[in-house]
Amino acid sequence: MFDTLESRIIIDYEIWVRSDLHIGGHDSGAPGAVDMGVMKDVDGYPFVPGSSLKGVLRSEMERLLNGLGKHVCSPDPDKLCKAGEECTVCLLFGGREVAGSIRVRDAYTDSRRTLIRDGVRIDRKTRKAAGGAYYTMEVVPKGTKFKGRITIENPKLGECRYAKLGALLGTVRFFNATSKSLGGGVSRGFGEVLIVPRLIREITADDYLEGRYEGRELVSLIERDDLGEILERGELPMSPDDAVDRFIGDWKGYVEAMEDGGKEP
Ligand SMILES: [Zn+2]
Repeated sequence: MFDTLESRIIIDYEIWVRSDLHIGGHDSGAPGAVDMGVMKDVDGYPFVPGSSLKGVLRSEMERLLNGLGKHVCSPDPDKLCKAGEECTVCLLFGGREVAGSIRVRDAYTDSRRTLIRDGVRIDRKTRKAAGGAYYTMEVVPKGTKFKGRITIENPKLGECRYAKLGALLGTVRFFNATSKSLGGGVSRGFGEVLIVPRLIREITADDYLEGRYEGRELVSLIERDDLGEILERGELPMSPDDAVDRFIGDWKGYVEAMEDGGKEP
């Protein structure tokens, strides 16, 4: 179904770390090493795997659509939609036999700085510290910014021109206003983040043919001093100022056309 490229949306995004973030990597096992390390690339820079962010966005969208009484499958591999009967979430994020339209690349930071936090393992039965079970957890400190890229193949759904882009932006706004959570230790106050789309471009098949690989800008984030507070309220100030609402309007139009509990329109 994605044999033909009509256009591709490119979103340059950032993740703003608002409280210490722990996304676990492989434990080194070396003596004296931290018990729970964070994911790092070969040069020792922490990063946010695209799959982590994609998983969070997928489950937020499931919650939203379930809340509207629309059918979506469970990401549990046994419960994914059958091939040929994919729900909207499978079409966007991938299903049993469809790749999905949304690709999320890893997000990187230009700082290697991490901190070590102490923790206590709690015995599940006694609710007390398990004997001598102190551990250390590595975190990326509050204030770190990661940069990454999301692409969407063919943003159209049904007759709604930018429905997939609207779906993504609507989900980002919902995430920023509500959950804000990424990675481990969330119950300890870790992993509060904001997802910040900076620049959104569209490249059509014609652009490729003509060598315009940058495509054309659709919207860009408006810089302002209180941006963090604005984003936390679920707002997304982008220029031109009616564009985000238009994209999300396309998504709403598509969702409203879905049968309750049922099929794609
Ligand atoms: Zn599905």
